[in-house]
Amino acid sequence: MELIVYVDRLKEGKKELFSGEISTDFLEDKNLFENTLSLAGEAYVSGDHLILRLRAKTTAKLPCSICNESVSVPVEIDISHVEPLEDIRSTFHFAALLREDIFLQLPKFTECQEKCPEREQIKGFLKAPSAKVSSEDSAGTQFPFAGL
Ligand SMILES: [Zn+2]
Repeated sequence: MELIVYVDRLKEGKKELFSGEISTDFLEDKNLFENTLSLAGEAYVSGDHLILRLRAKTTAKLPCSICNESVSVPVEIDISHVEPLEDIRSTFHFAALLREDIFLQLPKFTECQEKCPEREQIKGFLKAPSAKVSSEDSAGTQFPFAGL
């Protein structure tokens, strides 16, 4: 499957359908993704525009933000793209569009197994301690739950 829409073929309300597995080579980062991406969608012309609707699924392998171990993160995106026909010569290449949207979808923070075994060690850095002690409380004890 090519990541190309041949706009000439879409005259008279024809749709081009995309469905299948493709290589993730076009993502240009072999280490970050599993080998295949499943793609489903369609392209058609509406008025003066090309409409492209796609759903892409793959798995990214991201380093855990805490311990740096590799974590598999499912990536699923829906793209609705509208391109003016006057900007297209005869083919619309959408690999770059797909790549950009997939990278935007990657989480900024990844944690292995949803609870990194090393999280405990850095707890104090992740969350500022709630050191809000009013003057009344501080008259008693610094540990409000110590008596429970
Ligand atoms: Zn981790």
